[in-house]
Amino acid sequence: MEWSGPPLLSLSPLLRGELEVRESGLLEVEAFGGAGAGAAEPPLAQPAAFQVVASRVGEDQFWLAGWVEGSLRDACARCLREVLVEVRGELGLMLEFRPGVDLPFLDEEREGADWLVLGNPKLGLAPLLSEVLLLNRPLTVLHDPSCKGLCPVCGTDLNERDCGHGARVLGPDHPSLLRTQLADLLGETDSRA
Ligand SMILES: [Zn+2]
Ligand SMILES: [Zn+2]
Repeated sequence: MEWSGPPLLSLSPLLRGELEVRESGLLEVEAFGGAGAGAAEPPLAQPAAFQVVASRVGEDQFWLAGWVEGSLRDACARCLREVLVEVRGELGLMLEFRPGVDLPFLDEEREGADWLVLGNPKLGLAPLLSEVLLLNRPLTVLHDPSCKGLCPVCGTDLNERDCGHGARVLGPDHPSLLRTQLADLLGETDSRA
């Protein structure tokens, strides 16, 4: 995770006594990546827009809120063709500035909100924004609600072509054939004897 790369939020004005700092811009495609980067994460299709505000809530403690929206290059769950998924999510977490902390870390001990502890007043936002996008992606992605998927027998994309397997094996139009095949499987072809 890249905590020092762009886009950056500078907390310096807050540390000098100001009440609020804002940042907005784009999360670039190359900067995108969650905690489990690489694994099965869909990449960002184009730079994602974001806006954040950090406001003072205590001595060296700030509330960071904002949103990010972008489109992910996901895959249809049934036929695997590429689908661009629009995702928008909100973020909200506490920041605590603690000089001497090298790498920002989430303080798991504290209850309530998530706490990010950092020692560098320039906070790289890419890990936070990426995580929000990944958390808000739909559980199931379909390129079309009526996607017919891939044939489990030969792998043909059934949206493009009917290979015939579905109709012959499971089709409701061929009940007699289905019965014959089932009987074959069960070794009961001669049940009338
Ligand atoms: Zn599909
Ligand atoms: Zn087939």
